[in-house]
Amino acid sequence: MINTARRGRGAVGWGGGVGWRKRHGWERRKANYDRRVSDSLARALKERGLRLTAQRQLVLEAVRELGHATPDEIHAKVQCIASGVNITTIYRTLELLEDLGLVTHAHLSHGAPTFHAAEDRHVHLVCRACGHVQELSVESVTPLAQQLRAERGFNLDVGHVALFGTCGSCQ
Ligand SMILES: [Zn+2]
Ligand SMILES: [Zn+2]
Ligand SMILES: [Zn+2]
Repeated sequence: MINTARRGRGAVGWGGGVGWRKRHGWERRKANYDRRVSDSLARALKERGLRLTAQRQLVLEAVRELGHATPDEIHAKVQCIASGVNITTIYRTLELLEDLGLVTHAHLSHGAPTFHAAEDRHVHLVCRACGHVQELSVESVTPLAQQLRAERGFNLDVGHVALFGTCGSCQ
């Protein structure tokens, strides 16, 4: 039920180069992956009368590939391909993608929010000692969500906040 997050706060940044890509079979998967991303993005944008631009596509790809990423980390990754993109564009694009329902954010620290792909919904467990983020299935908090809805008519957005504590290895 609990699986380790692809990326904790202490993880190294993007930019491992060709070696990294080879190790993760990145080159092999890239072609199919790009198609799927651009199809769903193009459809969502078209419904709003907006164009599919390279920048919008790059930001969405970066979010999906990084797993959990702050706007700064997304910026760094996009800049590997398009060096001219500034942080303001990243923020604006993330806002648009969130509006379109393609990405979502969570608050895993006191700093900037963390973004990930919208279809990847889960609850976050954050260790205060080491900063490691674990993912928990949404179903594991269903009893709480159901109780809140029944007793208070409250609709719990489980993906938005994180549950803070101390992980097994830090105790
Ligand atoms: Zn997450
Ligand atoms: Zn928020
Ligand atoms: Zn820990």
